[in-house]
Amino acid sequence: MVHLKTPLLNYINGKWCPSQATELLDVVNPATAQSLAQVPLSRKSDVDEAAVAAATAFTSWRTTPPTARVQYLFKLKYLLEENLDELSRTITMECGKTLAESKAELERAIENVEVACGIPTLMQGYNLEDIARGIDEMMIRQPVGVTAIIAPFNFPGMIPFWFLPYSIACGNTAIVKPSEKVPLTMEKIFHLLEATGLPPGVVNLVNGAKEVVDAILEHPTIRAISFVGSSPVAKYVYSKGAAFGKRMQCQGGAKNPIVVLPDADMEMTTRIAADSAFGCAGQRCLAASVAVAVGEARYSFKDAIASSAQNRIVGYGLDTGVEMGPVITRESKSRIEGLVARGIEEGAQLLIDGRHPQISGYSEGNFLRPTILENVNPQSTLAETEIFGPVLSLMYVETIADAIAIVNRSKWGNMACLFTSSGAAARRFRYEAQAGNIGINIGVAAPMAFFPFSGWKDSFFGDLHGQGRDAVEFFTQTKVVVERWPKDWSRQF
Ligand code: NAD
Repeated sequence: MVHLKTPLLNYINGKWCPSQATELLDVVNPATAQSLAQVPLSRKSDVDEAAVAAATAFTSWRTTPPTARVQYLFKLKYLLEENLDELSRTITMECGKTLAESKAELERAIENVEVACGIPTLMQGYNLEDIARGIDEMMIRQPVGVTAIIAPFNFPGMIPFWFLPYSIACGNTAIVKPSEKVPLTMEKIFHLLEATGLPPGVVNLVNGAKEVVDAILEHPTIRAISFVGSSPVAKYVYSKGAAFGKRMQCQGGAKNPIVVLPDADMEMTTRIAADSAFGCAGQRCLAASVAVAVGEARYSFKDAIASSAQNRIVGYGLDTGVEMGPVITRESKSRIEGLVARGIEEGAQLLIDGRHPQISGYSEGNFLRPTILENVNPQSTLAETEIFGPVLSLMYVETIADAIAIVNRSKWGNMACLFTSSGAAARRFRYEAQAGNIGINIGVAAPMAFFPFSGWKDSFFGDLHGQGRDAVEFFTQTKVVVERWPKDWSRQF
């Protein structure tokens, strides 16, 4: 922890303002260990200020026609595209992923802006004349008020966009709290939001950590909260927010299995599975973490995935040709190495050991190389713990039923994928696998912006997910109106 003079600013009521924090954290480039900035750990009083600004702005923002509200989002789309390169560099520098991965993440953010531009259609209610003779009934959607978004470190550009464009397009106002590990991307994006000319208080940025989250959860003015992060924190945020009477959607951690059948196209499967397990250094909530090879698939898949892991080019994401960057912190790196060691103690065999690599020119970076263990016991710590690093556990079973049983015994349910050329096997898997996002010959089954980013079991706490129609429902409350206008009353005209 450091105490310097130029920490990042918050953005409240249309102004960049210093936080009332007494503590600052270094924002560290995970590849070079260089400090990029200092982020303030804002206080409850900063949240109070943002909530007042958002509540004040709400009164006129909700009366702004939806067609006018989305004009700011059209501008934002243009500005995000225009600044894509700089934003991508920022993501890579603070988060570690490769430049291509950073760009792909921002494209997903932009896609959500595009979908939210359809709010004049998406937000419509429905009605029915003559529910009884001369009586009509309608359902209208109204905004909920002040909303808050609490984000994790691994997609600093994309994840707030699963919520933010929908929230404000629906007529709400918003407070965003980025991860304190990667605050720079949202800082830059808020400069773009400012440039759209949005009225003061419609969007607010409060940097910080637990104190800010607790203040949001307890704040009487904030009506709906979107959270993405690890499962223990998601569960805590969900329970506390609900206890304070708020509408909550909390996406948690994951441990995603992929199942490989012997009839799969092995070249394609391996390429896709390696991207899923090792892309973004395994720090994706949709990363494949367990690969279950069925029957004869074990031989071809094992050799191919091992060679793909070994050949992956690891380095600084800004450097050309790099395919995998570092993990976010030193603590993450040693936690991941510890889990691999624990897996070996529990009986798994190390097929590819990516621990303690030397990356030329980046000796201070938090690097790991892809790591694969085989014969991992489905009930071991390695199999049951979210590793969130470039580590793949191989399991071998005889039938698809055994594989689905492994998928379904997991406490998580974020994603499950099947690789096969059999339609019948694919249908069975889609039907029986207990996960919110299913991939068939897909390794990262990330829903497009016009579908909900699903998640089941301990990977999600709430009812309505982020993105698409779910987001529109989350950010609106339904009002039902039943009307009778007796004919006699119109005779005066
Ligand atoms: P995290 O849970 O540590 O932090 C998430 C947010 O919660 C941050 O803004 C942080 O400041 C805040 N926070 C942390 N501890 C807190 C506490 N004790 N009380 C209140 N607030 C707290 O998660 P992370 O390490 O930033 O992100 C990685 C995790 O997010 C992984 O588990 C990953 O699977 C998950 N994730 C899930 C999804 C999904 O869609 N399900 C998407 C991305 C990431």
